[in-house]
Formats: sequence, structure tokens, C-alpha cells
Amino acid sequence: MTMLCQLSLMEIRDRLAKGELSAEDVTRSCLTQIERTEPRINALLSRRDDDALEEAKTLDRRGPDSSRPLWGIPLTLKDSLVTKDMPTTAASRMLENFTPCYDAFVVKRLREAGAIILGKANMDEFAMGSSTEFSAFGPSKNPWDITRVPGGSSGGSAASVAAYQCFASLGSDTGGSIRQPAAFCGCVGLKPTYGRVSRYGGIALASSLDQIGPLARSVEDCALVLSVIAGHDPRDATSSPLPVDNYVAALKAKNDLKGIRIGLPKEFLTNGLSEEMESACRDALDLAKQLGAEIVAVSLPLTHLATAVYYIIVMAEASSNLARFDGVRYGRRAEGVQELEELYVRTRSEAFGEEVKRRIMLGTYVLSSGYYEAYYKKAAQVRRLIQQNFETAFTQCDIVCGPVSPLTAWHLGEQDQDPLSLYLRDVYTLPVNLAGLPGLSLPVRLGTQSRMPTALQLIGRPFGEAALLSAAHVLQTALPQLGSPPAAA
Ligand code: GLN
Repeated sequence: MTMLCQLSLMEIRDRLAKGELSAEDVTRSCLTQIERTEPRINALLSRRDDDALEEAKTLDRRGPDSSRPLWGIPLTLKDSLVTKDMPTTAASRMLENFTPCYDAFVVKRLREAGAIILGKANMDEFAMGSSTEFSAFGPSKNPWDITRVPGGSSGGSAASVAAYQCFASLGSDTGGSIRQPAAFCGCVGLKPTYGRVSRYGGIALASSLDQIGPLARSVEDCALVLSVIAGHDPRDATSSPLPVDNYVAALKAKNDLKGIRIGLPKEFLTNGLSEEMESACRDALDLAKQLGAEIVAVSLPLTHLATAVYYIIVMAEASSNLARFDGVRYGRRAEGVQELEELYVRTRSEAFGEEVKRRIMLGTYVLSSGYYEAYYKKAAQVRRLIQQNFETAFTQCDIVCGPVSPLTAWHLGEQDQDPLSLYLRDVYTLPVNLAGLPGLSLPVRLGTQSRMPTALQLIGRPFGEAALLSAAHVLQTALPQLGSPPAAA
């Protein structure tokens, strides 16, 4: 029997609007599913079952409201998005007991649209990582195989969507943290163009790269959530004043890919790409061709530099952003301290995890006088060239495509001793953040060897979300469905 929580966001929304279902029914279905699946997948760091139910009942008492596009829809949020009166930890001991006094811009938008927040999703500490194993509160598990990671850093968000705990979630993506966990869990994940969604109230990792975006089970559901959270916000200086397209309407515009040129960069077919991932991407492109797309060969010649450039920038900016966690203003404070310096040192030594400390130290080093020119400045220059690579590619095609990750989800514990090899696995997602472009992860099928979800990445022009979502929707409609993950049953 299909549970309500397994339906798509769009279908639930229609049935709520018609009054066929109550917000309470829908919320209860998700809460029951959370209760059943959480012990196995550990997707959530905090829950608010009673408050969520109360909110649903309040909505029901007033009746459906067609002016609120997410009326009665239960969602989860990555725990790096600040939420009024709900804990926000960024999966760090540093913020273990932190309850913000305001909502992030995107959270405010969701609430105004009528969404019900069920809880906060697990992640790698301060969004540093790609497996959720760097969470200070234990890893999440992949609902397709609980011995494997859900990806990261927004792994809890992806796992909660895949396991039908909610209809969509928000994550953040600095170098792949929405797209890669979406790919590992068989969901759709969209990193919007830099500036499309306000980061006000998002706990920053690297300010020149971070974007907030949706994860959901279909392209359509992502389009709807994006339409709610996109738009200008004067409180984020990088937020764009460009008007927001109608992403949901854009999906109805086409039912084939005629006239669309999809560029496949030759550099994307190397870099340790596994055979099952390569064959999944090739088959998805064959399907795109049958649907009318033209596949063109393009080149992003500086792809081999993206990982080095990204990790210099992300560490430099993280070291600067995380300087605010000093034991004085937010979260944790070391006890029994005599002097100010000791307060800083002890608080930060006790509360940050190993990966966070590694990045703060390396980031401080590359920003220090004498090294700034050689590292940070050089990285910023090469970043501009990587951006230009994409600009050139987009003169030959409308969408650039490739894998999201060289591998499907790996086993928990597999990479414990080797952070560098983890960094190298981000090679397909990082260039998109360096160039500020929108990127979408689309599930293709279960891999021929691992039987874990595989995915295709579609990358659009700046602010080209409507075209990107439209093409992804056509492709998703033609692709076979993945079915349900075992841990969600
Ligand atoms: N895996 C990348 C990193 O560790 C990306 C993280 C992210 O996008 N937040 O930095």
C-alpha cells in the first residue's frame, strides 16, 4: 500500500488544495515514517513532532489557501540554516546548544508559503565533507543500503527525502553538497546560480561559493521549492535583483529536447570515473538524443586544476568565517578559563572536529602574509579562467553535462584515514561552484555493479534555472523510476 508520505510533493499539494487530505493527515504520515526509519538512517539531528502537528492542525482549521504554494507540506532543513526557536548546530559541538532568535531568509519564505518544518537534517560539521561522517553527532546512513554513506555534506537532507520522511528538504552546496548526496540517495538536487537564493541566515562555509537549494524526489518538486525560496534579499549583498522566472510553468513548455544542445566535456570522462557511472551517464545521454537533443563535444581544459583551486578557496574562506566561533558570542564556551587567549584556544580546540581544524589551519596558512599571493590570489585568478572555460563551452551548447561523482555511495568508514582522496571525488561538482553556475543532479538508475543510485549532472547558464529544470524534467519523465529504497519500506 502506498503511504501518503511516498507521494510526490505536487500530488500532495493538489490533494491538499482540493481538501481531499488534511495537513494533519499528511504530517502524521511523515512523522510515522520518521519514527520507523530514523533508527536505521539517522537523518535528523532534531525533531519537532508535536509543534509540527500543532501547526498542521492550525492550518486545517483555517482551510486550504491557494496563495500559499507549500500549504501543509512537511519539509526538513539542513541544520546549517538558522531557525527561530529550533536548535541549529551545523552538526558541531560548537553549536550544540544554540537556538537562534531568527529565521534564515529561505526558512521565512518556506513558512510564509505554508510549509511545515519537521526537523533539522544531519550534515558534515560546518558543511565540510562529502559523506556526513564528519557530523559530530554520528553519520547518517544511505536508505538504499545502510552500510553505505548518504553522501554529503547535505546527507541528512538527501536521506530524509529518499526515505519519505518529508517531501523536500533544503541543503547548501559549496562544492557539491546538494548534488552529490542527492545523487547518492537517488533524489534530485539543485544548486542554483550564485546569487539566486539569499544566504541570509545560512551558516557560512565559503562565502564566494555557498548556495542554498532544494532536494526532492522529482524535478517538478524541486522547481516548486525553488520558486518559493528564490529572489532578491537586501540582507545578502550577493543576492541578485534579477526577476525570478516561473520555474513550474517552465516545465510545461516542452515535452522533448528538440533544439537543445547538450555539451559533454571531454575532461569529464576521465578522473577515475567508474564504469557503472560512465555507462549510466552515456545511456542517459543516448536517451536525451532520442528525445531530440543534440550532443556536442566541448572542452573545459582547466578541469584538472579545479580541485586544487577549490580547496585553497574553501579553506581560506572557512578559516575566516569560522573565526566568529570564539566562545564569546555563540554556542559553546570552555569552562574554568583564566585568560582571553586561553578561552579562544580551549573553546576552539574542544568544540571543533578534526576536519574543521584541518581546514582552519590550512586556510589560515594560505591567507597569511607572504603566502596569500602564492595561494589565495593565484587560486582566485585560476578560478576566473575556469569560469571562462564554461563561458566558451556555452557558446557551443545550452547545457553542459557530466557525472556528479566518479563513484556511487561508498561504505561507511572506508575513507576515514584519507581526507585527500575524498577531496578528489568532488572533481565534477566543484567547477560549477567556482563558476557560480546552476547545477542539477538527476537520478539515472541503479548502478550495474553496486546497485546504488547513479546520476547525471546538468549544468546551466547563469540564472538559466528554468531551462535547466525544463530539460531535466523531460529527461526524468523518460527515465525509468528507481523504485523505493529498502530502508524506507
Ligand atoms: N565536499 C566538498 C567539501 O568538503 C563540498 C562541501 C560543500 O559543498 N559544502 O568542501
